[in-house]
Amino acid sequence: MQTFYRDSWVEVRLDAIEYNINQLKQHIGKDKKIYAVVKADAYGHGDTQVAKAALDAGAAALAVSLLDEAIRLRECGFTCPILVMGWVRPQDASIAAEMDISLTFFQEDWIKEVKNLDLANPLKLHMKWDTGMGRLGIRSVEEMQVLLKEVQEDERLILEGIFTHFATADDSDAAYYQEQQKRLGEMLTEFKALWQDQVNVHTSNSAASLRYPGNEEDFVRFGISMYGLYPSPVVKGERQIELQPAFSLHSRIVHVKKLKEGECVSYGATYCATEDTWIATVPLGYADGWIRRLQGIDVLVDGKRRPIVGRICMDQFMIELDKEYDVGEQVTLIGRQGDEEITADEVAAYLDTINYEIPCMISERVPRVYKSNQHIVDIENSLSTNSRKMM
Ligand SMILES: *Cc1c(COP(=O)(O)O)cnc(C)c1O
Repeated sequence: MQTFYRDSWVEVRLDAIEYNINQLKQHIGKDKKIYAVVKADAYGHGDTQVAKAALDAGAAALAVSLLDEAIRLRECGFTCPILVMGWVRPQDASIAAEMDISLTFFQEDWIKEVKNLDLANPLKLHMKWDTGMGRLGIRSVEEMQVLLKEVQEDERLILEGIFTHFATADDSDAAYYQEQQKRLGEMLTEFKALWQDQVNVHTSNSAASLRYPGNEEDFVRFGISMYGLYPSPVVKGERQIELQPAFSLHSRIVHVKKLKEGECVSYGATYCATEDTWIATVPLGYADGWIRRLQGIDVLVDGKRRPIVGRICMDQFMIELDKEYDVGEQVTLIGRQGDEEITADEVAAYLDTINYEIPCMISERVPRVYKSNQHIVDIENSLSTNSRKMM
């Protein structure tokens, strides 16, 4: 376990991750398996800790975006299936094969280049179908035929899965989603006529697995809701399952003073006291991901909402207090104090963005403290030399 010497930290509740997976399992039924999506350092929560909690709770496999993310998980000792959902350079497929990492493919040139490589082990592949996301994937049955022939010709290549991704599963209007389902159905019919071997089909992200639990598939890819956030306000309104947020962000007051009327705070002196006012300094700033546009948002102190005043600096910001507090008083930026709560959804709305961005934007300079049933079980501090090779 690492340690840290600053008074700002992220708390990640691993029991919430497990709770959310258990809620999903009940919702989709026990025959369906779960890819725990842990790309982008598990949406900023910490990949290895989340991956372990997810697998302990019954997820069958892990999904990431980058080969580097998959290799890191393998090197940390994860032996479960790992899928890279993004595009990987064809020449890097040999490393994937060596480490038993499954890759996504959809281009004829790509598969031809891979077939020219020396592969130490069989390479597991998932064919991506673009049924309307317009990002990655084949779009026609002709392309499918070409790719299947390429795979069939080379016994080192194993078609492990086929998948697609929905663009609007979190939307109140289901028309585009239904279009994608229709396209998927057509391609699946053709596929089944061409391919007899068993493959794993997976289509649903969090939104689709919450709203359409009866989708015909072997796996779902569970991301944002594993972390306890609803994919959109629409889905939050429907609340198919209860979720517990895993992520919270805290700090502690490091300085308190009383400003007199007319005295100002921070760069640009954008805030000036209109009467005698208690002001506290909080040691977290835009270099930690608490970006300048969050000026004015509330934080929690002593179970009450207090506003950030003046510009947010690189490492610090100031808040207006209702009374004098001691140095060391806890400040909660995301999370709960008593009856008050500031959610990632609220921060996202303040920034006019989606909740996915909020935990992702809290930089790794902020240590992550992992808790399970109120107990600290691990601490990750990216600045600790424990985690770095020295020069
Ligand atoms: C990120 C991602 C997911 C997970 O989506 P959530 O909305 O977070 O559940 C699923 N599939 C693909 C292809 C992704 O890139």
